[in-house]
Amino acid sequence: SWRLGLEAAHRRNRIVHATGDGTGREIMRALIAAVRRTPSITLLEGVEARRLIVEDNAVRGVLAANASGALTIATNRVVIATGGIGGLFADSTNPGGCFGQGLALAAHAGAKLSDIEFVQFHPTAFDGPSRPMPLLTEAIRGDGAVLIDETGERFMADQPGAELAPRDIVARAVWRHRAAGHRTFLDARQHPGAEFAQRYPVISAFCKMAGIDPAHDPIPIRPAVHYHMGGITVDGFGRSTVQGLWACGEAARTGLHGANRLASNSLMEAIVCARWVAESIESVSAGPRAMLRDDAMPQASDPSAVRPILTQGLGVLRDRDGIARAIRSLYPLACGHSAASDAALVGLMVAVAAIRREESRGGHFRSDFPHIAASAVPSSLTRADALAAARDIVESTPFARSALS
Ligand SMILES: Cc1cc2nc3c(=O)[nH]c(=O)nc-3n(C[C@H](O)[C@H](O)[C@H](O)COP(=O)(O)OP(=O)(O)OC[C@H]3O[C@@H](n4cnc5c(N)ncnc54)[C@H](O)[C@@H]3O)c2cc1C
Repeated sequence: SWRLGLEAAHRRNRIVHATGDGTGREIMRALIAAVRRTPSITLLEGVEARRLIVEDNAVRGVLAANASGALTIATNRVVIATGGIGGLFADSTNPGGCFGQGLALAAHAGAKLSDIEFVQFHPTAFDGPSRPMPLLTEAIRGDGAVLIDETGERFMADQPGAELAPRDIVARAVWRHRAAGHRTFLDARQHPGAEFAQRYPVISAFCKMAGIDPAHDPIPIRPAVHYHMGGITVDGFGRSTVQGLWACGEAARTGLHGANRLASNSLMEAIVCARWVAESIESVSAGPRAMLRDDAMPQASDPSAVRPILTQGLGVLRDRDGIARAIRSLYPLACGHSAASDAALVGLMVAVAAIRREESRGGHFRSDFPHIAASAVPSSLTRADALAAARDIVESTPFARSALS
């Protein structure tokens, strides 16, 4: 059954919900069924892409691995659709496997990434030990639930839009209230009250496991990394700056979300842009199978060393000193060949983009530059740009202004 819900910064109920709060599962069920019944799709499950083989700025193949070993796929057409980067942070609603592997593939291939400092924090993730953090959808606030602290004070009540102000504003308010020593809760006792369990059966079930009944108890919440507006730079056809390499979905930076995605626009973008990508690929011939050189297979990635660094330096509130510290920690990891290297490279590129953007806009808030600049400056950088900029910072005296500006 479908229902239209209200979410942050929307003026009317227009977000489709299926089976209460089981929309994602429903989408996956339909998509998987459609893929399995399409004869032109060959599914390789349990296979991880580790590097793109690129010659003269054109894709030649993919180096991949599965449980039984390495796999080389010769092709001149690759689409990266690897999702977001939430898994690079300690607190995220994203599955742990979404840690920007596609961004690392594109960066190593020489592609440009854009706007990667724009990370969206969702204000109401369930504040408990589970990872990924269960999400308390904005639709609950759309249904009238409010944000309170341990004293019962509604700390968002005076803000324009109150609890349904844009995500970045609510996330910063929650973050600051917590930094001032408070605990933060979503209070659904009045609205939707007794209807909670029926409207949100999945959330209701995990609250129950944590000993919380949303009809009677405030639900503990905190902000968590939720969505990445930036990503692989693509044009209107989904083409990256490397020939034969497209990107789609959260991994792509189409520019459609600006610095702050409006709730639920990502699936809309994925549906619309996927068609454009498919049409663009169709217009490029498969070409002869190239003889591939024997590239070394990188080891499987492990982002765990990177998570505390990004969490500390690239959170809801950022400043130059914190970002520079993150860059100093990430640079040696990104230059190495350990399991952390790819994750560190993506984190480093986010940090370099964040230190360069000396303003606050959407998901990127600099407490040392709290205002928006007069005109939007799109940021884009390659792996080589990021490594050069990071080296300047590492070699400069701590916290001195670097050669970046
Ligand atoms: C809890 C939650 C709720 C959300 N709610 C909404 C909503 O209501 N509306 C909305 O519009 N958006 C919502 N979003 C955002 C939206 O779900 C995502 O932006 C979207 O699913 C991204 O889709 P994708 O196809 O780009 O990537 P994903 O769906 O993340 O898929 C990426 C896939 O690539 C695989 N992968 C990664 N690296 C590799 C590799 N190296 N080799 C092989 N495979 C790899 C991953 O395992 C994964 O299966 C939500 C997100 C979360 C986390």
